[in-house]
Amino acid sequence: MSGPLPLRFVLSAPSVGQLPPSRAEVAVVGRSNVGKSSLLNALGNRKALAHVSKTPGRTQLLNCFEVTDGATVIDCPGYGFASVPGRVRATWQQMIEGYLLEREPLEMVVVLVDGEIGPTKLDVTMLGWLRSHTVAHSVVATKADKVKSSQRERRKREVAAGCDLLPSDIVWVSATKGTGVEALRRHVRLWLHLG
Ligand code: GDP
Repeated sequence: MSGPLPLRFVLSAPSVGQLPPSRAEVAVVGRSNVGKSSLLNALGNRKALAHVSKTPGRTQLLNCFEVTDGATVIDCPGYGFASVPGRVRATWQQMIEGYLLEREPLEMVVVLVDGEIGPTKLDVTMLGWLRSHTVAHSVVATKADKVKSSQRERRKREVAAGCDLLPSDIVWVSATKGTGVEALRRHVRLWLHLG
């Protein structure tokens, strides 16, 4: 199977307990503005697919999309809104951590890192947390088109080093140009056992 992932919005859940049953699930996390919505739209080849995740009231929820029966993708709330008060942030953190630790069908957590600016402190914290809890995860660098081709190799090494990974561990994508999108779809299909 190749081509767009037929992502269909199912529901938004305030906690892991309210998510629908799933056989295999991939979660997408990243700080706000990393390009998560654009990438989900690119994976599904739909313009406003992940728009739903950005509607008021849904930005702090686990937004569930189904690829096929029992194979799901969760768009997790973006972390790192500077304007969010500490109390609200703590609630989000609890929800995301609860989800990442307790969700049984979770096969892979895709951590989005902005390819142009590299991993932020929050990204590094998230990666350290996933490692320390042995949650399977994979780093995807977004906005590849923003890196000049003359700087690409060096940038790939820098981003990988910042994530404490090898350059070959990271898939680079551009939602705008479509670069790497099909490669990422293939990974997602494998993680969801649809490959
Ligand atoms: P989210 O907050 O993580 O969902 O991020 P968005 O998908 O809304 O993207 C944040 C900003 O980055 C928007 O202005 C997008 O147009 C831009 N953006 C997202 N993906 C890409 C990309 O692949 N290339 C470029 N050049 N800009 C992108």
